Amino acid sequence: MPADLSAIRREFPILETRIHGRPLVYLDNAATTQKPTAVLDASRHYYEAVNANIHRGTHHLARAATEAHEKARGIVARHLHAGDPAEVIFTSGTTDSINLVANILPLSPGDEILISALEHHSNIVPWQMACERSGAVLRVIPCDEQGILDPVEFGNLLSPKTRVLALTWLSNSFGTINPVAAMIAAAKQVGAFTVIDAAQAIPHLEIDVQSLGADFLAFSGHKVYAPTGIGVLWGRLELLRTLPPWRGGGEMIKEVRFEGTTYNEPPFRYEAGTPNIEGAIALAAALEFVNRIGITEIHTHEAALIRQAAAALSTIPGIRLYGPEDRAGALSFNLTGIHHYDLGTLIDQMGVAVRTGHHCCQPLMARFGITGTVRASFAVYNTAEEVDALATAVEKAAAMLG
Ligand code: PLP
Repeated sequence: MPADLSAIRREFPILETRIHGRPLVYLDNAATTQKPTAVLDASRHYYEAVNANIHRGTHHLARAATEAHEKARGIVARHLHAGDPAEVIFTSGTTDSINLVANILPLSPGDEILISALEHHSNIVPWQMACERSGAVLRVIPCDEQGILDPVEFGNLLSPKTRVLALTWLSNSFGTINPVAAMIAAAKQVGAFTVIDAAQAIPHLEIDVQSLGADFLAFSGHKVYAPTGIGVLWGRLELLRTLPPWRGGGEMIKEVRFEGTTYNEPPFRYEAGTPNIEGAIALAAALEFVNRIGITEIHTHEAALIRQAAAALSTIPGIRLYGPEDRAGALSFNLTGIHHYDLGTLIDQMGVAVRTGHHCCQPLMARFGITGTVRASFAVYNTAEEVDALATAVEKAAAMLG
């Protein structure tokens, strides 16, 4: 458990909120996390003391804003253990990052793009669109009843035709941690580009892009205590230097003439238009918050809460838990004969915020013959008492609806 959980909780003003007359139990962290004062202060300070457009100004504030923005890029790069800050492209989030990479990778008819059964729609649809544009074909690594990817099928699907492996590190629905480093190494053997969706990995796992070996990695700030509207696409610099731009506009150019345009170096080549300057600065503050506590401590604390939740919920008659035992971040479940939406609504009446539905993983839900689950997901500020509150609420709701 982090050294002083109540002190950490005090850093999140929203946790004081009461819902339906009860203390808020916020267990919807996989959808978005709450924000600590360090992040709120960074956003406020930026607009109160620094705000100006970046990179093009000579005046004091323009230089200060540019410096703060580029310092933030450096902090993100260090957090990811990136070799160079130029590998960090600021985007609006994971979805934006994956769309960017899906639009710049060279694809030809017959190429195969390999994804998995566990993917979020944002790591499916951009690739389907890339297939439509290029004539490439989408292939899917299946998972077993526990929500674990089938290693034999993965091996069978890999071939010299595999042009891209695009894989979630951690499943937002079931909490499965995929063996990404080994899968990337296998994909490299057949010459594929590798893209990791780290939307759920970023708040729970240590990320070292150099030891991971991937070509690209995407995440959203809001899943890791930063605001919405800011995210990152990390890309290997030697690749970014050779790949074409996607969106055109200001900032991404070297020189514009009506006869033709030359493009800027990465990361600016991929950052057309005025970026979310405050968001980048607040993201850096969020990562500093995480590092102050320690990602390993955070993961250990959350893993204990998930084990506690799984043990408590499994005693409720008719419950089905999804995902492997060593899940991280999220715990999905259903009660026989009860719609997940009804269960979620009743739990909310008891002050417990969970998410219900398909969690943007409709193909995964279809694989299990369901339309959705109830999902409790955890963050650094959650407590054992909140897990008790979840279990009690589910038990009561089951009795009322059963
Ligand atoms: N990938 C995963 C695994 C996610 O959990 C999410 C969000 O829930 C996304 C991608 C999309 O993130 P965003 O909506 O922030 O772009």
